[in-house]
Amino acid sequence: MSTAVSEPKKTVKNDRVTSISDLFPAKTEKEIKQQKMGAWVRAIWMISAHLGCIAGFFFFSWKAVFVGVFIYWITGGLGICLGFHRLLTHRSFQCPKWFEYFLTVCGILALQGSQVYWVASHRAHHLYSDQEGDPHSPRKGFWWSHCMWLFDTKWLSTDDLSARFAGDLLKDPGQRFIEKFQLVPIVLLGMGLIALGWEYFVWGFVIRMVVCYHGTWFVNSASHIWGYQNYDSGDDSKNLWWVALLSFGEGWHNNHHAFQSSARHGLRWWEVDTTFITIKFLSLLGLAKNVQVPKEVGATS
Ligand SMILES: [Zn+2]
Ligand SMILES: [Zn+2]
Repeated sequence: MSTAVSEPKKTVKNDRVTSISDLFPAKTEKEIKQQKMGAWVRAIWMISAHLGCIAGFFFFSWKAVFVGVFIYWITGGLGICLGFHRLLTHRSFQCPKWFEYFLTVCGILALQGSQVYWVASHRAHHLYSDQEGDPHSPRKGFWWSHCMWLFDTKWLSTDDLSARFAGDLLKDPGQRFIEKFQLVPIVLLGMGLIALGWEYFVWGFVIRMVVCYHGTWFVNSASHIWGYQNYDSGDDSKNLWWVALLSFGEGWHNNHHAFQSSARHGLRWWEVDTTFITIKFLSLLGLAKNVQVPKEVGATS
C-alpha cells in the first residue's frame, strides 16, 4: 500500500528571488489601494475573533467545549492537516475525488482562506524556505512568521499567487466551485451552531477557529525556531513535540521539510503523528491509496 519517496531533499538553490516583489506583477495604484483595504479587513477580522474569545467566560458548557474540540478535529485535523496540507499541497496519497472535495470543505470551515490560496502560499514556503520569497520565515522575527505576514499586502495578491503556485487546483472544476462558494458552508455551520445555542457558537466557531489559527501558525513560527533536526533540510525547520500535539502531527516539521511528499511526518517511534494514523486508517477503508513514506522508515510503516 505504501510507496517509498526519495532521499532527504534540500531546499532548491535555483529559481531564487531577490525580493518578494519579484514573485508578483507590478500593481496599479487602484490595486494597491484594494490590497491595503484587504489587509485592514483581515486585521479587523483577526482582532475581532480574538476579542470574541472573551465571550467563552460568559457562554460556557462542557457540551459546547466538547463540540468545539470535535469541530477542531474536523476542520483542523481533517481539513487543514490532512486535506489542505498532505493531500492538496503535497499529494502524499491518493483518494477518490468525492473524498478530496469533502476534506477540502472541512478545511474551508477552518476559515484560513481558500484552499487555492492556502496551497499556493504553502508551496511558496517550501520553494523558498527561510530565504527571500518565503512568505513567513522567522528570520524576519517570530511575530512576522506567526501572523504578521498575513497582513502584508503582497501576500494578499491571491490571484497572482494562485496562478503561479496552484495551477493544478485552478484547473479542477470541483475545486473552483468550492472556492467560489466557500462562504456557504461557513455560514451554514455558524447558523447551525447559533441554533443550538450561543455557547455552541462561541466554543464551536469562534474559540475553535482562533485555537486552530494558532495551531497552524505555530508550525510556521515555533517549528522554524525551536526543537531538533533529524535531517539537513537546508532550512531552519525543526521537530517540536508540543506543536505536533496541537497540530495533529504537523510539528515534526524538519522531517516534513526533508521528505515533503511523505504522508508520514513523525518518523521516530516517539514522534506521534495522528494525521498519519488517520491516513493509515483511511487506507484500510480503501479511501487512501499510494501512500508515500520515506524509504528508510518504509519497512516500519
Ligand atoms: Zn508542507
Ligand atoms: Zn516550514
